[in-house]
Amino acid sequence: MIALTVSPPIRRAFPLLRSEGSCRLCGAEEGYLIGERDRKGRPLRTILCAGCTLIRTDPLPSPDEERRFYEGLYRERYKGGSRTRRRHCIRETLNALRRHERLSCLLFPGIRMLDVGCGPGFFPFVLAMAGYPCSGIEPDPACVRFAREELGLSSVRRGRVEELDEREAYDLITLHHVLEHLCDPLLALTVLRRALKPGGRLVLEVPTLADPRKPWPQAFHRAHLFWWDEATLRLAAARSGFTLRRSTIEPDTGHLAAELVAAEVPGSPALPSPEPLLERLASTASHAPARKKAALRRSSLRVGEFFASLRPVSRRRLCERLCALHLARD
Ligand SMILES: [Zn+2]
Repeated sequence: MIALTVSPPIRRAFPLLRSEGSCRLCGAEEGYLIGERDRKGRPLRTILCAGCTLIRTDPLPSPDEERRFYEGLYRERYKGGSRTRRRHCIRETLNALRRHERLSCLLFPGIRMLDVGCGPGFFPFVLAMAGYPCSGIEPDPACVRFAREELGLSSVRRGRVEELDEREAYDLITLHHVLEHLCDPLLALTVLRRALKPGGRLVLEVPTLADPRKPWPQAFHRAHLFWWDEATLRLAAARSGFTLRRSTIEPDTGHLAAELVAAEVPGSPALPSPEPLLERLASTASHAPARKKAALRRSSLRVGEFFASLRPVSRRRLCERLCALHLARD
């Protein structure tokens, strides 16, 4: 039944197969094969769900495998080790400043905020510098140590999404480049919904294949289990007690940013059809190289000069200087 909704040329390009587990969003057990290698050429099967179009790694890791990975291995393999270098401090502070600008219209005095998967704590640090204290949770103990000891953030603690409880009552939760890493994203969103006050907001950012400028066949990554677009985010929001208020592809980075509101009565959006997305993937299979380090290159600061001009200072002082330069522009 599902297979008949897709034309024969598209089915030849992306064969329909039975997946190793059912879709975490719609429960379908069939998917279109869109990738067999990761960005480094290693075997990694990626499928587009025939039921709802959510793109995922197949098979997905177990919750135990996911937990072990993010308590240490992730930063070793993908972030160049657990030590947070000065260059990383600059890049992540600039990213945090960009995110602060994007959500500044949602901030108000006394707001209760939480950054989930906060890493070494740069986003809570920037918010604190701007006058809005923000808590953070992060599973990696080395990151939590950096946030607490080097950035002075006593409000960052070790923890996982599933450990939040509904008595926390936040006005705003942020989730930057986390949702794509979680093996049960619907469970995570449901927990986050319960930890928000009625009408509270969830602001998230994820990588996406929805940006037509991206060379998507080279995008696949062992740590990115899911690839979202507006349609699948809308569906996930509705199924976890949210309404998708708005979403946009960030012009500088090509990432998908979205604002979800804790809903009294969640909607029930229709399942998106796979054909338009598969057609677009077929037509954009080879494109220009990815735009790397966009945040650095496009920053209004001349980062190289800024970096070179610094005398040795602590990493906290480095981040403070960067914040002072940016926040003073407002
Ligand atoms: Zn699905």
